[in-house]
Amino acid sequence: MDLDFSRAEQDFRAEVRDWLAAHVPGPLPSLDTPEGFAAHRAWEAELAASRLSVVSWPAAYGGRDASLVEWLIFEEEYWAAGAPARVGQNGIFLLAPTLMAFGTEEQRRAWLPRMARADDVWAQAWSEPEAGSDLAALTSRAVRAPGGWRLYGHKTWSSRAAHASHGFGLFRTSGARHRGLTYVMFPMDEVTVRPIAQLDGLPGFAELFFDGVFVPESMVIGEVGEGWRIAMAATSSERGLTLRSPGRFLATADRLVALARGGPAADDPVLADRAVRCWTDAEAYRLHTFQTARRLMAGEEAGPATSMGKVFWSELDLRMHALAMELLGDRAGETAWLDGFLFSLAGPIYAGTNEIQRTIIAERILGLPR
Ligand SMILES: Cc1cc2nc3c(=O)[nH]c(=O)nc-3n(C[C@H](O)[C@H](O)[C@H](O)COP(=O)(O)OP(=O)(O)OC[C@H]3O[C@@H](n4cnc5c(N)ncnc54)[C@H](O)[C@@H]3O)c2cc1C
Repeated sequence: MDLDFSRAEQDFRAEVRDWLAAHVPGPLPSLDTPEGFAAHRAWEAELAASRLSVVSWPAAYGGRDASLVEWLIFEEEYWAAGAPARVGQNGIFLLAPTLMAFGTEEQRRAWLPRMARADDVWAQAWSEPEAGSDLAALTSRAVRAPGGWRLYGHKTWSSRAAHASHGFGLFRTSGARHRGLTYVMFPMDEVTVRPIAQLDGLPGFAELFFDGVFVPESMVIGEVGEGWRIAMAATSSERGLTLRSPGRFLATADRLVALARGGPAADDPVLADRAVRCWTDAEAYRLHTFQTARRLMAGEEAGPATSMGKVFWSELDLRMHALAMELLGDRAGETAWLDGFLFSLAGPIYAGTNEIQRTIIAERILGLPR
């Protein structure tokens, strides 16, 4: 593997670093509050005005045609600069790759530039009360209506849905377990949204109730009945490269090492060793991701290996935050580490639980019997 960055990649890094140094705002209120959500949307719009919200997208949709390696460089600089969490991430990292691969050109032109500027903010509506890991068991329905479809049913755990303008998800269009699902986008206006509080008490999620919400035909992505295949293609984005790029873990690992230097770990070789181990694991994840990016750029598929990455990043994030809690002791509650710790507890659950990922690794990578 070539570990050197080209001159163009180095120039891009310098440009992004300078821009962030001049523009990153101070800490914003949580994006799970109305003020925080608005502030994060304004930040996305500022990124978009400099074509930095979606660097790897085609220029026609608001991007810069940057390569995946350049995108990873952007991410490293972004998180190292302490820039805000991305309120548009569901749309940008989960829906956009699906639209690029399975949408029509009309859909791409209608939705992607708006998503890049955070004119629309999207929520993912896949999970249901009785269909989480067993997603194909979902029962929310899309029923044919003149000019489109009417949606009925109940979704849950939809991140950002308390404030989002639009959603996308899977709906049953026939009885066939996998072949009976269709991928649909919808505006949130007519959906009944019931917020759910996270551990921090803020409405990070919501339940969604559909009672005949109408969507025109143009909101269906791909063929009717092909929703499962389309969704499975998107999950490798969620587990692998896009949702959890290594930049954020490296930035956390750097902060952890700084914390360890000044605290009890300075005199405790076991604590110091745990901090160093976290840093080297973050660096290993970074190198692994560059390798994956080069493979994807050469036309290969990410495939089930993204499940290994998902288990690795979620456990690393948990380990880093738990160590920070230990190092901080009584002071933990006064720092941003506590929010990070509470959120890291969810890592082994969202984007497909780690139990399910381990089954995928066992069956599809190791070839163990089912
Ligand atoms: C922070 C966070 C954000 C989320 N955001 C969204 C979102 O935006 N949109 C959305 O649609 N969903 C979202 N989810 C939901 C998430 O995708 C589901 O929680 C997850 O898929 C698990 O489903 P479940 O909660 O129904 O648990 P279940 O499927 O009921 O699983 C319960 C437990 O049983 C285990 N288990 C289940 N089946 C098996 C099996 N076959 N073998 C071994 N173990 C098994 C699971 O691993 C888990 O530990 C989010 C969840 C979290 C925590």
